[in-house]
Amino acid sequence: MAEARRAVFVCCDGLGRNWVRPEITPVLDDLRQRSLWCDAHSAVFPSVTRVSAASVATGCLPARHGLHGNRMGLIEQGRIIVRDVGDPDFRTHMRRATGATLLVPSLAERVAQAGGFIGFSNVSPGAAYFLDPEHFGRIYHRAGSFAPEGTRIEGADALAVSHDAAGDWAMTQRFCREVLADRRPAVAFLWLADPDHTMHGVPLGSPVHHDALAAAGRCVAEVFRTVERLRGEGEEILLLVGSDHGQETIGESVSIEDWLAARGLESLLEAGDVAVAGQGTAALFYATDRGRAPLLGVLDEMSHAEWAGDVLGSERLAEQGFAARGGVVAAVNMARRADVNAHGVAGWRWVAAEAGKTAAIGSGQHGGWGPDETRPFLMVNDGGRSTGTVQHPSCITDIAPTIARFLGLPGDGFDGKCLTP
Ligand SMILES: [Zn+2]
Repeated sequence: MAEARRAVFVCCDGLGRNWVRPEITPVLDDLRQRSLWCDAHSAVFPSVTRVSAASVATGCLPARHGLHGNRMGLIEQGRIIVRDVGDPDFRTHMRRATGATLLVPSLAERVAQAGGFIGFSNVSPGAAYFLDPEHFGRIYHRAGSFAPEGTRIEGADALAVSHDAAGDWAMTQRFCREVLADRRPAVAFLWLADPDHTMHGVPLGSPVHHDALAAAGRCVAEVFRTVERLRGEGEEILLLVGSDHGQETIGESVSIEDWLAARGLESLLEAGDVAVAGQGTAALFYATDRGRAPLLGVLDEMSHAEWAGDVLGSERLAEQGFAARGGVVAAVNMARRADVNAHGVAGWRWVAAEAGKTAAIGSGQHGGWGPDETRPFLMVNDGGRSTGTVQHPSCITDIAPTIARFLGLPGDGFDGKCLTP
């Protein structure tokens, strides 16, 4: 009897499409020759990992899945409180404030009775848990691993790996051995910390960045080798390898809260009637009914500030695939200059300062819609049947519907579309 079909997605976090080149990432370039390559592939807004994880998992844009950013405002007792989505307990706050986590089903839910889902992730806990926030499948992360219904996985079965390239490699080896070869779920995700984790602390194009690209390539090669071996044993496996966003360089940072306070909004900020949720190279603005008019009143002046690129109100946010609800009234994409760094990489950005965090000038960052941060890569490998290039625009929301079609699952309820013929 033929084995059930399976799908595998590997995310090389933060690996922008222009870094996939034979001289830099030979493993990825080799796989690209044997795969369908998406040549106009895009991120979602904000181009941050937690929102991207939710978009990959659901096949929907943020407007529909409801997760706003890496940091997100929640209306708690009439005040807007900005919380870090990366924290393991964020979902508890989100459920309390909004009654739910994601507003649409994840792949894990779609395959819960059809082969199951296992995700291994080495990024932030929040980004890992938003792959399957209501625990329909199994999710493995160094901050805690969970079985269906949220049962905590303890002992040797939990994922105890370091948050770096060595941890990615250890996680990959276990993923190949245990998940791909042994447990064989219908959908398996492997989400690497690198190169994103390294790029946040070093100049783009530096030797350390190149090492991180090579480390991610080594993990992809191990997965591809395993998938090919299983295919040789007669299994039908769809392998997607890609990323969630790229990065650009941190030029300077600005406290948008201080800028707003200097324009008379200090008491509204203190009262939780206006709030800023920084997303690196972008920021979301929240307001209550009381804070809305004063906030909207300074947006025109903001659009002329040297640190601000585009300032978007609710209508233009909708065009970006983002719904202005849950208190969001506007967003800013931080200004960009075309300056080239010491390693020949263009793109100098203002970033939104976060209290208690220092922006590492000269290192990588993302979150907005700068050209390099919004161009992730994606290739779809079905054993060599589909090769060539998808020229039309694709998005990270296309991953879930492509997997759903391959597995023969219903294709409704996605914003994305299937990429294979
Ligand atoms: Zn990311």
